[in-house]
Amino acid sequence: MTTTPVTAPTVPFHVPHVAERQDAYLRHVLETGELDGDGPYTARATELLERLTGSPHALLTPSCTHALEIAALLLDLAPGDEVVMPSFTFAPTASAFALRGAVPVFVDCRPDTLNLDETLLEAAITDRTRAIVAVHYAGVACEMTAIERVARDRGLPVIEDNAHGLGSSYHGRPLGGLGTLAALSFHATKNAHCGKGGALLVNDETLADRATIIRDRGTNRRQYFQGRVDKYRWVDLGSSYILPELLAALLAAQLEEFEVIQRHRHAVWHHYQTRLADWAGREGVALPTVPPGRTHSAHLYHLVLPSAADRAALLSHLAERGVRATFHFQPLHTSPAGLRHGRTAPGGCPVSERVADRLVRLPLHTGLDEAQAERVVAALRSFRTGATGAADREDWS
Ligand SMILES: *Cc1c(COP(=O)(O)O)cnc(C)c1O
Repeated sequence: MTTTPVTAPTVPFHVPHVAERQDAYLRHVLETGELDGDGPYTARATELLERLTGSPHALLTPSCTHALEIAALLLDLAPGDEVVMPSFTFAPTASAFALRGAVPVFVDCRPDTLNLDETLLEAAITDRTRAIVAVHYAGVACEMTAIERVARDRGLPVIEDNAHGLGSSYHGRPLGGLGTLAALSFHATKNAHCGKGGALLVNDETLADRATIIRDRGTNRRQYFQGRVDKYRWVDLGSSYILPELLAALLAAQLEEFEVIQRHRHAVWHHYQTRLADWAGREGVALPTVPPGRTHSAHLYHLVLPSAADRAALLSHLAERGVRATFHFQPLHTSPAGLRHGRTAPGGCPVSERVADRLVRLPLHTGLDEAQAERVVAALRSFRTGATGAADREDWS
């Protein structure tokens, strides 16, 4: 008979996926010496992304942040223009537009999906509004029908920050293919990654050429290679937004096994969702919501605790049991740069503030086996909410 070790190994919060063919692809790029980007692995990754999203033009970039910056340049934003977006998102969603002098206008999120609350959208729009940014939190689609209706009525483009939702869909339409433009992230923390990378999806044909120019230092080099111009020159604002070929090779290897990655992540997500349901109901904890008509990407598994004190108590409870869990976005409307460069839409963002203080993300990655997922579940099921100091406790059901 063996004895159970006193301390089981830690369940890590995240382990970046390792693709089977990545070493071979990296070696091949080094052998060919075609290192600077837009080579054969970029072409391969681009083709796979266009197939996954239904977008006609995927442009690999060094990050999602850079893709959002290209989007901001494409919109020709001027100082004082406004861009409406959720407060509950990551800094670059706002910073990319603020860099052009535009004012991010922060809207609150829905308490169920934690996505932009579409009922608050109209009130946030002024005659300075130039775009709406939809962030699909955890890869669960925003209320796109309502958002698209407002955008159409006001003649505004929708930009998707789809850093979380590659592989997700909204009534059969893949996320990333819905907005005028969309940004993807291949940062090491995302489902498919190359350490650090991203893509801009251009779904409006009239923006496609200019997007390639902005991405290539403001030059029309691509048109030159295509034989459409006889010399290439500086024709527009732009920067160095091309992903190096070594990283494109890593990404191509990941995207080729995207289905394997997704199957694994969905199994873990589903394990949590079924094994935690009764405990969450008893303890007043909100589990993720996926409204009808949507498939999600299993990018995150998050819990919203009844109070900030409960969240703090749960994080220590899990840490004591070797489970690494963590919180997530701090609302942008109360952040130092958000206060300086942005504006909060009428009504404020009380839901974003509450959620940010109470949300916990659980380990979710392809390095997690069923036994480890069950360890996470067991650690959670032995936790009771109602932490002392929980004066801010409230009902989330
Ligand atoms: C990760 C993330 C980004 C930024 O991605 P990078 O590729 O690291 O620039 C942007 N928006 C959201 C919502 C994210 O989660």
